[in-house]
Amino acid sequence: MAQTFKPEIRFTNSPIAKKVKMGGRRVVSGALVKASASNLIPKVHVKRGDLVMMVSGSQKSGRGKTGKVLNVLPKEGKVVVEGLNVITRATRQRTPLGQSGLIKKEAPIFASRVMLFCTSCKKPTRIRHKQVEGGKKTRICTHCKEAFDA
Ligand SMILES: [Zn+2]
Repeated sequence: MAQTFKPEIRFTNSPIAKKVKMGGRRVVSGALVKASASNLIPKVHVKRGDLVMMVSGSQKSGRGKTGKVLNVLPKEGKVVVEGLNVITRATRQRTPLGQSGLIKKEAPIFASRVMLFCTSCKKPTRIRHKQVEGGKKTRICTHCKEAFDA
């Protein structure tokens, strides 16, 4: 996954409509384009290792399921979640020990499609910040005030 991104895509002045036509990874979210956002890539609100629930999309892609965040792609505004949005790739064996055949793997999804999942109240939730002793901040569940970062 050695993709290179030019830094100027984050704050670009070129017309948004053109980018939609061009397609590709420059367009981050159709909802943002409709809202005519100038910064097309929102900040990813979850971290690697978080338990998240998919709150939008089709049942097939895993709406309503939970999984662990395996990877965060901040430059694309996407996350890779274990067991969500699993795609099947037909892969040919390239190295003697490489895999071949139909390989199932998780494809990145927009971070806005997942919400942090609280294990103590079993709900998808937003977070609040709370100061703990020593001046450190911790993330807490909006519903039950349970801390996420122990
Ligand atoms: Zn909770």
